[in-house]
Amino acid sequence: MSAGDRRVLISGAGIAGLVTAYWLKRHGFNPTVVERAPELRAGGHAVDLWGSAVDVIERMGLLSAVETARTLNDTGITIVPGREPLKMSLADLAVRIADRHAEVMRGTLVKLLYERTRDEVECLFGDSIRAIEMRTDGVRASFERAPTQTFDLIVGADGQHSTVRRLVFGEESHFSRYLGAYIAGCSLPNDWVPSGHLARYVAPAKTVTLAPIRQSGELAVGFLFRRPTELRIEHDDIERQQQLLRDVFAGEGWHVPSLLAQLPKAHDFYFTPVSQIRMQRYSSNRVVLVGDAGYCPAPAVGGGTTLAVIAAYILSGEMARAGGDYAAALQSYEREIASAVEASRHVGPSLIRALVPRRSIEISLGMHIASFVRGLPPCVRRCVPLIPRRALRGLREVASLRLRDYERT
Ligand SMILES: Cc1cc2nc3c(=O)[nH]c(=O)nc-3n(C[C@H](O)[C@H](O)[C@H](O)COP(=O)(O)OP(=O)(O)OC[C@H]3O[C@@H](n4cnc5c(N)ncnc54)[C@H](O)[C@@H]3O)c2cc1C
Repeated sequence: MSAGDRRVLISGAGIAGLVTAYWLKRHGFNPTVVERAPELRAGGHAVDLWGSAVDVIERMGLLSAVETARTLNDTGITIVPGREPLKMSLADLAVRIADRHAEVMRGTLVKLLYERTRDEVECLFGDSIRAIEMRTDGVRASFERAPTQTFDLIVGADGQHSTVRRLVFGEESHFSRYLGAYIAGCSLPNDWVPSGHLARYVAPAKTVTLAPIRQSGELAVGFLFRRPTELRIEHDDIERQQQLLRDVFAGEGWHVPSLLAQLPKAHDFYFTPVSQIRMQRYSSNRVVLVGDAGYCPAPAVGGGTTLAVIAAYILSGEMARAGGDYAAALQSYEREIASAVEASRHVGPSLIRALVPRRSIEISLGMHIASFVRGLPPCVRRCVPLIPRRALRGLREVASLRLRDYERT
């Protein structure tokens, strides 16, 4: 059987799914993507591509488009703990995770990836896999809408709350680990922050970050707060979620009251526990998980986009390298990404500790240290890591995952 006869079903037209689709097609496979949403989900705020993820984007011919679309929020950050604001250059925060980096809006990246694949890969929107059955000649997928079909392989690229994972590996609760915090966000009119600049308000156990969105002129508002136990709150109960935010941030200063008052007007409000997906294996028989579905390091604070892009490239490449031997390909894929997945698990917990100090004394101390570092000569300043070492190590390990040239092997 030639690679072109090998049919692969990819669940999810997100970042991992579209990168997988592109490379599988390029290696001669016959991929189909199924996306639950009726159209491309181009929502979300900024995501980071570090190191090898930028190399993958370049190999896909998308580097200049991604460069053009960069958020350019890198002129500086103002941190407000309630008294004197501290202004810092973002160059001070460039912690040498990798020598290549691009921050782009998630929606822009998803659209670019889709544009790159849409002419060659069929994408079924508004559908979802309902059941998966292993057979001797392949794996059968039945859908909510489309007729049942048999594939050689199914790739679950359907995000943190993956359906493929649930159908094949078990309930999400077996794999999801709550990291003790919640994140919420939305886009609002930008009345405060100059273009290219970030602003952050820090109070004990809670923080708000404001980042201008160059493309829309709006402000990306991100709330992050600690909560020791996970709440029983439905993912679509926006009214309760916004009320909870108002309760948690009640009495805070700066622009917080105004931001809270505007929440009901937001067109893209989201609210989620910060959890990571921890699994021993990401493949079983003819089913494999890629991206957040298999190893979400933590939404927004874990380097998940970089990991997803690189892992999708490696999965597709290992499939090409192994010819028709799926078992060998999936084993190599798991082996190649194992240490980066492990390292990525330290990023979220470590960043939450640093970004959301529990007590006022920790905030004051952090501000004093930041002030002191700001006063150092640039050559000394550059040596001081301003994010925790564990997070730095984790991000570096993910960003430096080695990329083979699978088109030559
Ligand atoms: C709408 C949205 C907004 C986001 N915003 C941010 C952000 O602002 N900052 C940030 O750091 N990260 C954000 N993320 C997460 C970020 O994209 C991922 O952590 C990372 O890029 C890894 O991508 P992924 O492809 O594994 O998962 P995702 O990007 O989550 O993509 C998963 C895709 O699978 C689809 N899907 C889900 N269930 C099914 C199903 N049953 N059948 C078919 N398709 C399904 C989803 O609709 C989605 O298109 C967002 C994700 C989404 C979906």
